[in-house]
Amino acid sequence: MDGANRPIIIVGGGLGGLTTALALGRAGRRVRILEQAPEFGAIGYGIQLGPNVVPMFDQLGITAAVLDKGDVPDACVLVDAHSGEEITRIPLGVSFRARFRHPYIIIHRVDLHQVLMDACRARPEIAFEPALAAAGFEDRGDHVIVQTADGSTIVGAALIGADGLHSTVRAKLRQEGEPHQFGYVAQRTLVPMAKVPDPVPRRNVYMWSGPGFHVVHYPLRHSTEFNIVAVYRTSTFAARLTQHDHRAEVERIFAGTQEAIQVMLAMMDLERRWPLADRDPIRHWHKGRVTLVGDAAHPTLQSMAQGACMAIEDGVCLAALIDLADGDFERAFTQYEFERYVRTARLQLESRYMWDIYHAEDVARDVMRQTFADRTEDDLFRCLAWLYDGFRVPARLRSPAPMERH
Ligand SMILES: Cc1cc2nc3c(=O)[nH]c(=O)nc-3n(C[C@H](O)[C@H](O)[C@H](O)COP(=O)(O)OP(=O)(O)OC[C@H]3O[C@@H](n4cnc5c(N)ncnc54)[C@H](O)[C@@H]3O)c2cc1C
Repeated sequence: MDGANRPIIIVGGGLGGLTTALALGRAGRRVRILEQAPEFGAIGYGIQLGPNVVPMFDQLGITAAVLDKGDVPDACVLVDAHSGEEITRIPLGVSFRARFRHPYIIIHRVDLHQVLMDACRARPEIAFEPALAAAGFEDRGDHVIVQTADGSTIVGAALIGADGLHSTVRAKLRQEGEPHQFGYVAQRTLVPMAKVPDPVPRRNVYMWSGPGFHVVHYPLRHSTEFNIVAVYRTSTFAARLTQHDHRAEVERIFAGTQEAIQVMLAMMDLERRWPLADRDPIRHWHKGRVTLVGDAAHPTLQSMAQGACMAIEDGVCLAALIDLADGDFERAFTQYEFERYVRTARLQLESRYMWDIYHAEDVARDVMRQTFADRTEDDLFRCLAWLYDGFRVPARLRSPAPMERH
Protein backbone atom coordinates (compact mmCIF):
# COMPACT_ATOMS: atom_id res chain seq x y z
CA MET A 1 0.00 0.00 0.00
CA ASP A 2 1.45 3.38 -0.93
CA GLY A 3 1.25 6.25 1.55
CA ALA A 4 1.05 8.90 -1.21
CA ASN A 5 -2.73 9.21 -1.27
CA ARG A 6 -3.24 8.83 2.45
CA PRO A 7 -3.70 11.77 4.81
CA ILE A 8 -0.97 12.77 7.24
CA ILE A 9 -2.14 11.88 10.75
CA ILE A 10 -1.57 14.38 13.55
CA VAL A 11 -2.09 13.21 17.12
CA GLY A 12 -3.08 16.13 19.37
CA GLY A 13 -5.20 19.19 18.63
CA GLY A 14 -3.31 21.71 20.81
CA LEU A 15 -1.52 24.78 19.45
CA GLY A 16 1.25 22.66 17.89
CA GLY A 17 -1.10 20.17 16.23
CA LEU A 18 -3.45 22.83 14.83
CA THR A 19 -0.59 24.96 13.49
CA THR A 20 0.92 21.96 11.74
CA ALA A 21 -2.47 20.98 10.31
CA LEU A 22 -3.17 24.49 9.06
CA ALA A 23 0.26 24.87 7.46
CA LEU A 24 -0.09 21.48 5.75
CA GLY A 25 -3.66 22.19 4.68
CA ARG A 26 -2.62 25.50 3.14
CA ALA A 27 -0.01 23.59 1.13
CA GLY A 28 -2.78 21.32 -0.17
CA ARG A 29 -1.84 18.27 1.96
CA ARG A 30 -4.60 16.15 3.45
CA VAL A 31 -4.54 15.89 7.25
CA ARG A 32 -6.48 14.01 9.91
CA ILE A 33 -6.16 15.33 13.48
CA LEU A 34 -6.95 13.04 16.40
CA GLU A 35 -7.75 14.70 19.72
CA GLN A 36 -8.38 12.65 22.84
CA ALA A 37 -10.66 15.29 24.44
CA PRO A 38 -14.34 15.25 23.47
CA GLU A 39 -13.91 18.68 21.88
CA PHE A 40 -11.02 20.54 20.32
CA GLY A 41 -10.31 23.31 22.83
CA ALA A 42 -7.80 24.98 25.12
CA ILE A 43 -7.61 25.56 28.84
CA GLY A 44 -8.97 28.97 29.65
CA TYR A 45 -5.97 31.06 30.68
CA GLY A 46 -3.60 33.53 29.11
CA ILE A 47 -0.55 33.01 26.96
CA GLN A 48 2.30 35.34 25.99
CA LEU A 49 3.66 35.27 22.46
CA GLY A 50 7.06 36.66 21.50
CA PRO A 51 7.55 38.63 18.27
CA ASN A 52 9.15 35.53 16.73
CA VAL A 53 5.74 33.90 16.17
CA VAL A 54 4.27 36.79 14.19
CA PRO A 55 6.03 35.84 10.91
CA MET A 56 4.63 32.31 11.46
CA PHE A 57 1.14 33.78 11.81
CA ASP A 58 1.79 35.78 8.62
CA GLN A 59 2.55 32.53 6.79
CA LEU A 60 -0.65 31.00 8.17
CA GLY A 61 -2.72 34.06 7.22
CA ILE A 62 -3.97 34.66 10.79
CA THR A 63 -1.97 37.66 12.07
CA ALA A 64 -4.87 40.13 11.84
CA ALA A 65 -7.24 37.74 13.63
CA VAL A 66 -4.71 37.11 16.42
CA LEU A 67 -4.00 40.83 16.89
CA ASP A 68 -7.71 41.54 16.96
CA LYS A 69 -8.17 39.18 19.94
CA GLY A 70 -4.86 39.90 21.65
CA ASP A 71 -3.25 42.90 23.32
CA VAL A 72 0.19 44.43 23.09
CA PRO A 73 1.65 45.42 26.50
CA ASP A 74 4.10 48.31 26.99
CA ALA A 75 6.49 46.41 29.25
CA CYS A 76 7.39 43.24 31.06
CA VAL A 77 8.38 44.10 34.62
CA LEU A 78 10.33 41.90 37.03
CA VAL A 79 9.72 42.86 40.68
CA ASP A 80 11.08 41.52 43.96
CA ALA A 81 8.12 39.91 45.71
CA HIS A 82 9.31 40.81 49.22
CA SER A 83 10.69 44.34 48.84
CA GLY A 84 8.55 45.49 45.89
CA GLU A 85 11.75 46.80 44.24
CA GLU A 86 11.74 46.75 40.43
CA ILE A 87 14.54 44.42 39.34
CA THR A 88 14.31 45.02 35.62
CA ARG A 89 11.89 46.20 32.96
CA ILE A 90 11.85 45.06 29.35
CA PRO A 91 10.21 47.78 27.26
CA LEU A 92 7.80 46.22 24.76
CA GLY A 93 6.69 49.47 23.11
CA VAL A 94 8.23 51.60 20.38
CA SER A 95 11.89 50.63 20.90
CA PHE A 96 11.01 46.93 21.07
CA ARG A 97 9.00 47.15 17.86
CA ALA A 98 11.85 49.04 16.18
CA ARG A 99 14.35 46.36 17.23
CA PHE A 100 12.30 43.17 16.71
CA ARG A 101 9.94 44.40 13.95
CA HIS A 102 6.91 42.60 15.42
CA PRO A 103 4.81 43.05 18.58
CA TYR A 104 4.83 41.08 21.82
CA ILE A 105 1.29 39.72 22.26
CA ILE A 106 -0.78 38.61 25.27
CA ILE A 107 -3.91 36.64 24.42
CA HIS A 108 -6.46 34.27 25.91
CA ARG A 109 -5.54 30.70 24.92
CA VAL A 110 -9.14 29.96 23.99
CA ASP A 111 -9.11 32.90 21.55
CA LEU A 112 -5.84 31.82 19.93
CA HIS A 113 -7.07 28.25 19.67
CA GLN A 114 -10.31 29.50 18.13
CA VAL A 115 -8.48 31.56 15.50
CA LEU A 116 -6.52 28.44 14.52
CA MET A 117 -9.64 26.25 14.57
CA ASP A 118 -11.57 28.69 12.37
CA ALA A 119 -8.71 28.77 9.87
CA CYS A 120 -8.42 24.94 9.93
CA ARG A 121 -12.17 24.47 9.51
CA ALA A 122 -12.07 26.62 6.39
CA ARG A 123 -9.67 24.11 4.78
CA PRO A 124 -11.30 21.10 3.14
CA GLU A 125 -7.98 19.22 3.44
CA ILE A 126 -8.29 19.00 7.26
CA ALA A 127 -10.48 16.40 9.01
CA PHE A 128 -11.11 16.50 12.77
CA GLU A 129 -11.47 13.44 14.99
CA PRO A 130 -12.47 14.51 18.50
CA ALA A 131 -12.69 11.98 21.36
CA LEU A 132 -10.16 9.73 19.64
CA ALA A 133 -6.94 8.93 21.53
CA ALA A 134 -3.94 7.37 19.80
CA ALA A 135 -2.64 4.36 21.69
CA GLY A 136 0.14 3.15 19.38
CA PHE A 137 1.36 2.97 15.80
CA GLU A 138 3.22 0.84 13.29
CA ASP A 139 5.47 2.23 10.60
CA ARG A 140 5.07 -0.08 7.61
CA GLY A 141 7.73 1.61 5.52
CA ASP A 142 5.47 3.21 2.93
CA HIS A 143 2.57 4.09 5.26
CA VAL A 144 1.71 4.18 8.98
CA ILE A 145 -1.07 2.54 10.95
CA VAL A 146 -2.28 4.31 14.09
CA GLN A 147 -4.04 2.25 16.75
CA THR A 148 -6.60 4.15 18.78
CA ALA A 149 -7.70 3.61 22.37
CA ASP A 150 -11.12 2.42 21.21
CA GLY A 151 -9.51 -0.43 19.27
CA SER A 152 -9.81 0.94 15.74
CA THR A 153 -6.97 1.65 13.31
CA ILE A 154 -6.31 4.57 10.98
CA VAL A 155 -3.99 4.40 7.99
CA GLY A 156 -1.94 7.43 7.00
CA ALA A 157 1.01 8.51 4.90
CA ALA A 158 2.94 9.66 7.99
CA LEU A 159 2.38 10.37 11.69
CA ILE A 160 3.08 13.59 13.60
CA GLY A 161 2.89 13.40 17.40
CA ALA A 162 1.67 16.78 18.70
CA ASP A 163 0.45 15.18 21.90
CA GLY A 164 2.26 17.30 24.46
CA LEU A 165 4.43 16.68 27.51
CA HIS A 166 3.18 13.15 28.15
CA SER A 167 3.25 12.16 24.49
CA THR A 168 2.15 8.63 23.64
CA VAL A 169 3.85 8.87 20.23
CA ARG A 170 7.17 9.84 21.84
CA ALA A 171 6.88 7.01 24.36
CA LYS A 172 6.68 4.53 21.46
CA LEU A 173 9.53 6.20 19.55
CA ARG A 174 12.02 6.40 22.41
CA GLN A 175 12.65 4.21 25.44
CA GLU A 176 12.93 6.74 28.24
CA GLY A 177 11.26 7.65 31.51
CA GLU A 178 8.76 10.26 32.57
CA PRO A 179 9.42 14.01 32.13
CA HIS A 180 11.67 15.63 34.72
CA GLN A 181 9.69 17.22 37.57
CA PHE A 182 11.38 19.96 39.58
CA GLY A 183 9.05 20.03 42.56
CA TYR A 184 7.25 23.15 41.27
CA VAL A 185 3.53 23.56 40.57
CA ALA A 186 1.53 26.27 38.78
CA GLN A 187 -1.86 27.54 39.84
CA ARG A 188 -3.83 29.65 37.35
CA THR A 189 -6.81 31.97 37.72
CA LEU A 190 -8.73 34.34 35.51
CA VAL A 191 -10.80 37.09 37.15
CA PRO A 192 -12.87 39.97 35.75
CA MET A 193 -10.71 43.10 35.58
CA ALA A 194 -13.40 45.05 37.45
CA LYS A 195 -12.68 42.90 40.53
CA VAL A 196 -8.93 43.59 40.62
CA PRO A 197 -8.26 46.10 43.41
CA ASP A 198 -5.79 48.96 43.53
CA PRO A 199 -2.48 47.69 44.84
CA VAL A 200 -2.29 45.31 41.86
CA PRO A 201 -0.77 46.81 38.69
CA ARG A 202 -3.36 46.12 36.00
CA ARG A 203 -1.43 47.02 32.89
CA ASN A 204 1.52 45.18 31.38
CA VAL A 205 3.12 41.83 32.17
CA TYR A 206 4.37 41.56 35.75
CA MET A 207 6.49 38.89 37.30
CA TRP A 208 6.99 39.00 41.07
CA SER A 209 9.94 36.84 41.94
CA GLY A 210 11.00 35.34 45.26
CA PRO A 211 13.03 32.43 46.65
CA GLY A 212 11.33 29.29 45.31
CA PHE A 213 8.27 31.04 43.84
CA HIS A 214 6.96 33.62 41.38
CA VAL A 215 3.67 35.20 40.36
CA VAL A 216 2.95 36.35 36.80
CA HIS A 217 -0.04 38.48 35.83
CA TYR A 218 -1.32 40.42 32.85
CA PRO A 219 -4.56 41.74 31.37
CA LEU A 220 -6.52 39.86 28.68
CA ARG A 221 -9.35 40.54 26.25
CA HIS A 222 -8.69 44.26 25.98
CA SER A 223 -8.35 44.65 29.74
CA THR A 224 -11.69 43.09 30.65
CA GLU A 225 -10.06 40.04 32.25
CA PHE A 226 -7.00 39.51 34.42
CA ASN A 227 -4.76 36.44 34.26
CA ILE A 228 -2.80 35.33 37.35
CA VAL A 229 -0.34 32.43 37.58
CA ALA A 230 1.29 31.50 40.88
CA VAL A 231 4.23 29.09 40.69
CA TYR A 232 5.99 27.64 43.73
CA ARG A 233 8.18 24.83 44.96
CA THR A 234 6.55 22.36 47.31
CA SER A 235 7.32 18.90 48.63
CA THR A 236 3.67 18.00 47.92
CA PHE A 237 3.95 18.80 44.17
CA ALA A 238 2.91 15.29 43.11
CA ALA A 239 0.14 14.93 45.72
CA ARG A 240 -3.57 15.63 45.40
CA LEU A 241 -4.53 18.01 48.19
CA THR A 242 -7.81 19.60 49.17
CA GLN A 243 -8.40 23.21 48.28
CA HIS A 244 -8.07 24.03 51.97
CA ASP A 245 -4.59 22.44 52.09
CA HIS A 246 -3.56 24.24 48.90
CA ARG A 247 -4.50 27.55 50.47
CA ALA A 248 -2.60 26.80 53.67
CA GLU A 249 0.47 25.94 51.61
CA VAL A 250 0.21 29.06 49.46
CA GLU A 251 -0.22 31.29 52.53
CA ARG A 252 2.89 29.80 54.10
CA ILE A 253 5.05 30.02 50.97
CA PHE A 254 4.02 33.58 50.05
CA ALA A 255 4.08 34.92 53.65
CA GLY A 256 5.69 38.37 53.91
CA THR A 257 5.29 39.24 50.23
CA GLN A 258 3.91 42.55 48.95
CA GLU A 259 0.26 43.48 49.46
CA ALA A 260 -0.42 43.17 45.70
CA ILE A 261 0.55 39.49 45.87
CA GLN A 262 -1.56 38.85 48.96
CA VAL A 263 -4.55 40.44 47.24
CA MET A 264 -4.07 38.30 44.13
CA LEU A 265 -3.66 35.10 46.11
CA ALA A 266 -6.93 35.81 47.92
CA MET A 267 -8.64 36.00 44.50
CA MET A 268 -7.10 32.79 43.18
CA ASP A 269 -8.97 29.63 42.42
CA LEU A 270 -6.77 27.07 44.15
CA GLU A 271 -8.74 23.99 43.19
CA ARG A 272 -6.39 22.74 40.48
CA ARG A 273 -2.64 22.90 40.10
CA TRP A 274 -0.25 21.68 37.42
CA PRO A 275 3.06 20.02 38.36
CA LEU A 276 5.68 21.53 36.04
CA ALA A 277 8.17 19.43 34.12
CA ASP A 278 10.55 19.42 31.19
CA ARG A 279 12.97 17.01 29.52
CA ASP A 280 16.63 17.12 28.57
CA PRO A 281 17.08 18.28 24.98
CA ILE A 282 17.60 15.61 22.30
CA ARG A 283 18.95 15.77 18.74
CA HIS A 284 16.61 13.27 17.12
CA TRP A 285 12.89 12.88 17.55
CA HIS A 286 11.85 11.10 14.38
CA LYS A 287 12.04 7.57 13.04
CA GLY A 288 10.98 6.66 9.51
CA ARG A 289 7.55 8.18 8.85
CA VAL A 290 6.94 9.33 12.44
CA THR A 291 7.99 12.62 14.04
CA LEU A 292 7.04 15.02 16.87
CA VAL A 293 6.25 18.72 17.28
CA GLY A 294 6.00 21.07 20.27
CA ASP A 295 6.10 19.79 23.84
CA ALA A 296 6.20 16.19 22.63
CA ALA A 297 9.61 16.91 21.06
CA HIS A 298 11.19 19.48 23.40
CA PRO A 299 9.14 20.28 26.53
CA THR A 300 10.51 23.29 28.38
CA LEU A 301 10.00 25.20 31.61
CA GLN A 302 7.92 28.37 31.31
CA SER A 303 10.61 30.89 32.30
CA MET A 304 10.77 32.47 28.84
CA ALA A 305 7.09 31.97 27.91
CA GLN A 306 8.02 30.30 24.64
CA GLY A 307 6.85 26.65 24.70
CA ALA A 308 3.83 27.32 22.52
CA CYS A 309 5.85 29.69 20.31
CA MET A 310 8.27 26.82 19.60
CA ALA A 311 5.36 24.48 18.81
CA ILE A 312 4.04 27.05 16.32
CA GLU A 313 7.48 27.51 14.70
CA ASP A 314 7.83 23.69 14.52
CA GLY A 315 4.51 23.31 12.73
CA VAL A 316 5.31 25.88 10.04
CA CYS A 317 8.84 24.51 9.52
CA LEU A 318 7.70 20.89 9.33
CA ALA A 319 4.90 21.62 6.85
CA ALA A 320 7.30 23.60 4.62
CA LEU A 321 9.76 20.68 4.53
CA ILE A 322 7.06 18.06 3.90
CA ASP A 323 5.94 20.17 0.97
CA LEU A 324 9.49 20.58 -0.37
CA ALA A 325 10.25 16.85 0.01
CA ASP A 326 6.95 16.00 -1.68
CA GLY A 327 6.32 12.57 -0.19
CA ASP A 328 9.86 11.78 1.01
CA PHE A 329 8.99 11.94 4.71
CA GLU A 330 12.29 10.52 5.95
CA ARG A 331 14.11 13.35 4.21
CA ALA A 332 11.69 16.03 5.42
CA PHE A 333 11.77 14.76 9.02
CA THR A 334 15.58 14.51 9.10
CA GLN A 335 16.00 18.10 7.95
CA TYR A 336 13.18 19.30 10.23
CA GLU A 337 15.04 18.01 13.32
CA PHE A 338 18.25 19.53 12.06
CA GLU A 339 16.67 22.95 11.50
CA ARG A 340 14.93 22.95 14.88
CA TYR A 341 16.99 21.15 17.48
CA VAL A 342 19.61 23.74 18.45
CA ARG A 343 17.06 26.53 18.79
CA THR A 344 14.63 24.44 20.84
CA ALA A 345 17.44 22.92 22.94
CA ARG A 346 18.75 26.39 23.68
CA LEU A 347 15.31 27.39 24.88
CA GLN A 348 15.09 24.32 27.12
CA LEU A 349 18.52 24.99 28.65
CA GLU A 350 18.17 28.77 29.01
CA SER A 351 14.73 28.27 30.55
CA ARG A 352 16.28 26.07 33.25
CA TYR A 353 18.98 28.68 33.82
CA MET A 354 16.42 31.51 34.06
CA TRP A 355 14.28 29.37 36.36
CA ASP A 356 17.14 29.24 38.87
CA ILE A 357 17.73 32.97 38.48
CA TYR A 358 14.10 33.93 39.10
CA HIS A 359 13.88 31.71 42.18
CA ALA A 360 17.34 32.43 43.57
CA GLU A 361 17.88 32.65 47.31
CA ASP A 362 20.34 34.42 49.59
CA VAL A 363 23.62 35.50 47.95
CA ALA A 364 22.54 34.21 44.53
CA ARG A 365 19.57 36.56 44.79
CA ASP A 366 21.80 39.56 45.42
CA VAL A 367 23.92 38.59 42.43
CA MET A 368 20.77 38.30 40.29
CA ARG A 369 19.59 41.79 41.33
CA GLN A 370 22.98 43.35 40.63
CA THR A 371 23.26 41.60 37.26
CA PHE A 372 19.90 42.93 36.13
CA ALA A 373 20.57 46.40 37.57
CA ASP A 374 23.64 46.68 35.34
CA ARG A 375 21.72 45.81 32.15
CA THR A 376 20.74 48.53 29.72
CA GLU A 377 17.84 48.25 27.30
CA ASP A 378 20.34 47.35 24.57
CA ASP A 379 21.78 44.60 26.77
CA LEU A 380 18.31 43.14 27.38
CA PHE A 381 17.46 43.22 23.69
CA ARG A 382 20.80 41.60 22.82
CA CYS A 383 20.13 38.75 25.29
CA LEU A 384 16.75 38.11 23.66
CA ALA A 385 17.81 38.56 20.04
CA TRP A 386 18.57 34.87 19.34
CA LEU A 387 14.96 34.13 20.24
CA TYR A 388 12.97 37.19 19.19
CA ASP A 389 14.78 37.73 15.88
CA GLY A 390 12.87 34.64 14.86
CA PHE A 391 13.28 31.45 12.90
CA ARG A 392 13.97 31.30 9.17
CA VAL A 393 11.62 28.74 7.63
CA PRO A 394 13.65 26.64 5.16
CA ALA A 395 12.99 27.43 1.52
CA ARG A 396 14.89 24.44 0.08
CA LEU A 397 15.98 20.93 0.93
CA ARG A 398 19.56 20.58 2.07
CA SER A 399 21.69 18.41 -0.10
CA PRO A 400 23.21 16.11 0.99
CA ALA A 401 20.84 15.31 3.86
CA PRO A 402 21.92 17.24 6.95
CA MET A 403 23.04 14.93 9.74
CA GLU A 404 24.59 11.66 10.70
CA ARG A 405 22.79 9.95 13.55
CA HIS A 406 24.80 9.73 16.76
C1 LIG B 1 1.71 27.61 33.51
C2 LIG B 1 2.15 27.60 32.06
C3 LIG B 1 2.30 28.81 31.39
C4 LIG B 1 2.72 28.82 30.06
N1 LIG B 1 2.87 30.02 29.42
C5 LIG B 1 3.30 30.05 28.14
C6 LIG B 1 3.43 31.30 27.46
O1 LIG B 1 3.12 32.35 28.00
N2 LIG B 1 3.89 31.28 26.17
C7 LIG B 1 4.21 30.12 25.52
O2 LIG B 1 4.62 30.17 24.35
N3 LIG B 1 4.09 28.92 26.16
C8 LIG B 1 3.64 28.86 27.43
N4 LIG B 1 3.49 27.66 28.06
C9 LIG B 1 3.86 26.42 27.34
C10 LIG B 1 2.75 25.99 26.40
O3 LIG B 1 1.54 25.86 27.10
C11 LIG B 1 3.11 24.65 25.75
O4 LIG B 1 4.45 24.66 25.32
C12 LIG B 1 2.20 24.41 24.55
O5 LIG B 1 0.86 24.33 24.97
C13 LIG B 1 2.61 23.13 23.83
O6 LIG B 1 1.70 22.90 22.77
P1 LIG B 1 1.55 21.44 22.16
O7 LIG B 1 0.53 21.55 21.08
O8 LIG B 1 2.88 20.88 21.83
O9 LIG B 1 1.00 20.52 23.35
P2 LIG B 1 -0.35 20.64 24.20
O10 LIG B 1 -0.81 22.04 24.31
O11 LIG B 1 -0.09 19.89 25.47
O12 LIG B 1 -1.42 19.84 23.32
C14 LIG B 1 -1.39 18.44 23.23
C15 LIG B 1 -2.76 17.98 22.78
O13 LIG B 1 -2.69 16.57 22.51
C16 LIG B 1 -3.81 15.92 23.08
N5 LIG B 1 -3.39 14.53 23.32
C17 LIG B 1 -2.51 14.07 24.23
N6 LIG B 1 -2.36 12.74 24.11
C18 LIG B 1 -3.16 12.34 23.10
C19 LIG B 1 -3.43 11.08 22.50
N7 LIG B 1 -2.82 9.95 22.90
N8 LIG B 1 -4.32 11.01 21.47
C20 LIG B 1 -4.96 12.16 21.02
N9 LIG B 1 -4.73 13.38 21.57
C21 LIG B 1 -3.83 13.48 22.58
C22 LIG B 1 -4.11 16.71 24.33
O14 LIG B 1 -5.43 16.51 24.78
C23 LIG B 1 -3.86 18.14 23.85
O15 LIG B 1 -4.98 18.70 23.26
C24 LIG B 1 3.03 27.60 29.39
C25 LIG B 1 2.85 26.39 30.06
C26 LIG B 1 2.41 26.38 31.38
C27 LIG B 1 2.24 25.06 32.08
